Amino acid sequence: MPAILFQNIFELLQKELQKYNTPIVTREKAGVKETPFTTLISCILSLRTKNEVTEEAAISLLSQYDTPEKIAQLTEATLANLIYPVGFYKTKAKRIKEMTQVIIKKYDGNVPDTMEELLTLKGVGRKTANIVMVYGHHRHGFLPIDTHCHRIPNRLGWIRTKTPEETEQALLKLLPEQFWDDFNDLFVLFGQKICVPISPFCSKCPIQQYCKQIGVTTKR
Ligand code: SF4
Repeated sequence: MPAILFQNIFELLQKELQKYNTPIVTREKAGVKETPFTTLISCILSLRTKNEVTEEAAISLLSQYDTPEKIAQLTEATLANLIYPVGFYKTKAKRIKEMTQVIIKKYDGNVPDTMEELLTLKGVGRKTANIVMVYGHHRHGFLPIDTHCHRIPNRLGWIRTKTPEETEQALLKLLPEQFWDDFNDLFVLFGQKICVPISPFCSKCPIQQYCKQIGVTTKR
């Protein structure tokens, strides 16, 4: 697909979606300093959790405890209380506690800045590691893929993949590099507001003319 088509699609989406806030993990949160560590923790909190709940929990924890050293002072129970009611809050409290200890001991309190090292942290998968690289460390050359970023390029007919991991590899080949930095934020928002998982709003979709609607059985 020629770069000009991607350009048109990205511009149309940016125009349509500018009225909404960017996704919670990557946007500024009141009273929370944006660092690789706060990005990592926000991302862990957001897994299987609604935006509003993630935002509240992230502010409650990270406005007071925004470094591995500060979190290391908390008991697991206090940590769980601070992040309640995010999904799996007890498991996440345990993971966050373990993760901060590893970051302090092995990485001198700094969140690692390679995919390989990030992926060794328990509870960190490719999506989280890629998000930390792009939005935490501000590095280029990474594509975080969540469920929306996986579903939509398949519906559009850009790729035919079965898993987010396959999608990441396919898009790294297909999507020109100048679009990589904007891709995650834009497609997550698009997937939350218009190209929703069940019955997407195709009638008000700004890129309908570019979409093959693969696998779309009901739409609005
Ligand atoms: S036309 Fe429908 S399926 Fe295609 S991108 Fe737009 S909302 Fe999604």
